[in-house]
Amino acid sequence: MANPVLNQSPNAAINKSILSRYLSIPQPEDKIQAMYVWIDGSGEYVRAKTRTLDFIPKSPSELPIWNFDGSSTGQSTGSNSDLYLYPVSIYRDPFRLGNNKLVLCDVYDHTKKPVATNNRYSCLEAMKLAADQHPWFGIEQEYTLLDMDYRPFGWPKGGFPGPQGPYYCGVGADKVYAREIEEAHYRACLYAGVNISGTNAEVMPAQWEFQVGPCEGITIGDELWIARFLLHRVAEEFGIVVTLDPKPMPGDWNGAGAHCNFSTEAMRKPNGIIEIEKAIDKLSKQHIRHITAYDPHEGKDNERRLTGKHETSSIHDFSAGVANRGCSIRIPRTVSEDKCGYLEDRRPASNCDPYKVSEAIVRTCCLNQ
Ligand code: ADP
Ligand code: MN
Ligand code: MN
Ligand code: MN
Ligand code: MN
Repeated sequence: MANPVLNQSPNAAINKSILSRYLSIPQPEDKIQAMYVWIDGSGEYVRAKTRTLDFIPKSPSELPIWNFDGSSTGQSTGSNSDLYLYPVSIYRDPFRLGNNKLVLCDVYDHTKKPVATNNRYSCLEAMKLAADQHPWFGIEQEYTLLDMDYRPFGWPKGGFPGPQGPYYCGVGADKVYAREIEEAHYRACLYAGVNISGTNAEVMPAQWEFQVGPCEGITIGDELWIARFLLHRVAEEFGIVVTLDPKPMPGDWNGAGAHCNFSTEAMRKPNGIIEIEKAIDKLSKQHIRHITAYDPHEGKDNERRLTGKHETSSIHDFSAGVANRGCSIRIPRTVSEDKCGYLEDRRPASNCDPYKVSEAIVRTCCLNQ
């Protein structure tokens, strides 16, 4: 997709120090700003809008249900456009600070049914049924930074950087691009209350990763979506575009995934490796179900990434192995040695919906569905 208009970001050129004058105006104590965030019709991007509240919300149930124009987000038709935003979790707002909040919402239609992109609803049902097994998830979100021409940030115009090798966990001006975004995003997540567990530069230059987890049950989806919102919002200020496309550059360049690390209480206990192996056996019989759930287009996006090259397994085969990054499922070396811990499902695409991924894993491994 070529951008016909802009080759540099108007946002990047704005003098941000002027804004700080206004943000330092004292905010009335009885007026807080709540930014409602939701997943749009793409199933991949987020939208957000703000309202003023005259109280400090402590739980989502205190917050008003709100609405929006679904015909402008690809979620309904113009003649019946209003959709409902139901608050599901609250985070501190790292941009507005103070008592201001970010409010993650899921979306319902006028009959109060979850819309097509509301995968949280059925995920929550599955998580409730599996709650006694205490499923934990840790997702490694890979992403790629793009310039306004939609080419990877920092790549030579009309050319390519040197081959992959020096960039993974790289340090240095010729190894990594826009570390500022990673740094700003990490602090924003910590402040907001997201259980972010780490970050690293990735194999392809301009590609990065952050990890969220371990999180129990539905919270992995909630926290990853807010972390994604924070990433797009931080990058906006730098005039850099974030893409979650699983293969942003064809050719000899790594794609982007969202490895999902998973365990139950039984797997985390001594000799839990037996439970891990049982889960892998169940996963091996549901490969298609999982591939279908692991990107927003039922495997079409992941097809470009899961080639069997570049640290992936083929989309057509299921495989598992210890410390093997060319498998669908990897048992980390330490887990094999400790005989307990977790497994890593390497198949989810970077643009997956974590509600769909965690739901599929729980239905297969915990609920035997
Ligand atoms: P990799 O070696 O694959 O790059 P990372 O260190 O990037 O692994 O990510 C590992 C992820 O596994 C982290 O998100 C972490 O929270 C998660 N994790 C660790 N222990 C568990 C567990 N018992 N259950 C589920 N997830 C876990
Ligand atoms: Mn209007
Ligand atoms: Mn990782
Ligand atoms: Mn990675
Ligand atoms: Mn991994």
